Order: sequence, then C-alpha cells, then structure tokens
Amino acid sequence: MKVRLFEIFTSVEGEGILYGTKTLFVRLAGCPFTCFYCDTKESLPLDSGTEYTIEDANNLIDSNLRSNTYKVNFTGGDPLIQHKAVALLAKHIQDKKIPTYLESSCFDIDRFNHVLPFIDIVKIEFKTKDSDFVDSKHYDKLIGHTMKCLESSIKANKTTYIKIVVSSKTDLNEFKGLVKEIFKIVSGNDIDGFIIQPTHSISEPSLDLLLNLYDLVFPYYINVKVVPQLHKLIGAP
Ligand code: SF4
Repeated sequence: MKVRLFEIFTSVEGEGILYGTKTLFVRLAGCPFTCFYCDTKESLPLDSGTEYTIEDANNLIDSNLRSNTYKVNFTGGDPLIQHKAVALLAKHIQDKKIPTYLESSCFDIDRFNHVLPFIDIVKIEFKTKDSDFVDSKHYDKLIGHTMKCLESSIKANKTTYIKIVVSSKTDLNEFKGLVKEIFKIVSGNDIDGFIIQPTHSISEPSLDLLLNLYDLVFPYYINVKVVPQLHKLIGAP
C-alpha cells in the first residue's frame, strides 16, 4: 500500500482542546471538499505531496519525531481520504506509546470506524452550511455521518471533542439547530470539549456573533470555549 503525504513537521498545536502542545503533524494529501476558509488549499489535490510506501512513510515519521512530542496529529487535506494508510501509520505511532490524534471532517462513518481503533484523541468537526464544504443537497447526509462518528468515538471511549468553525456568514438559527441535534445524542459528560473556532483573515465573525454562538452552547455545555487558531499568532505552521 502507498500513501501520499503533503508534509510532516513539528509545531505547537494551535487549535482545539490541546492547544499549546508540542505536536508532530502528518499532513495527508487530498481533500475533495470546498470550505471557503480552507487554509491548506495546497494539500487539497489528490495528487499533491509525495507518494511513499507505508514502510518509507513510517521511517519518515520516525526521523521527524522529536523528543517530548505530546501527540502525533493526522491532518490534511482530510486524512479519511486515505483511511487505510492512516490506520497503518497511526498503529505504528501507538506502538511507540505516543498518543495519536485525528483531525478530520468526519464525512464517512465507515472510513472513520476503520481508523478509530488506532486513534486516541478525536476532533469531531461539524461543518456549518455556510462553510461551503458541500452543496446544500448533500449537507444533511454529511451531518448524519458526522453525528455517527461522534457517537462511535464516544462509545469507543476515545478522548472526544467537538469543533465548529464559524465566520461572519454563520447563521445563528442554523447553529442553534445543529447544537440542539448534537445534544440530542450526547450529554456534556460524554465529551471532552466544545470549541467554537472563528475563521482567520477571511469573513471573520464579530465578537457579538461569537458571544451569541457561545450562548447557544453554554446551556448544554458550560465548558464551551471560543478558541482562535493560536499558532497563527506566532507565525507557526
Ligand atoms: S475539509 Fe478541511 S482540508 Fe478540506 S476543504 Fe475543508 S478545511 Fe480544507
């Protein structure tokens, strides 16, 4: 089996509940989706990056792994595009007793479940309609898959948190409905965080909008946090 990697690098995690941790990022090539705020557009083509055998990719990961690395983050693109390869790479990391982290848009429950046994920490990202991830015709199906991924991660006792990227285009009513649907299937005790992440440099939401969005989650989950992409503040990748 082969895998296409776009890049591998160590940086400070700038997103989510584990911001600030020293992390090895393994960026998989390929994502067929179209979020308007995507900040990794170079890695979207399925033929971007470099192709490796799994053995060569594992060796590359090993040679990039620095001491005191808190976790290895499989990101993209969308790592579920190459789910079989990601499962093998993640198992290689788990065998070293280093936590593995999946950063995906959770668009396919079968691919997600294939990777899940080899992942310790899961970010479940819900896309809003205004993200342009998919067209409106396919949006409900996407959310159905993301909900199933959320349930599956919790059932497997993984460290699981929810992230939603919001922009000035985010509709309060739509967000409210999405949050209501999420907390129909999970309780606050089931999750390890709920992050509202404002877009950076493009259609940025106002503070008022962020506070309104926060207020919609708080009644369900008092530990909700608004966390921007902190790595961008220090010019880190
Ligand atoms: S899912 Fe992620 S990688 Fe794909 S277009 Fe959206 S932001 Fe970019």
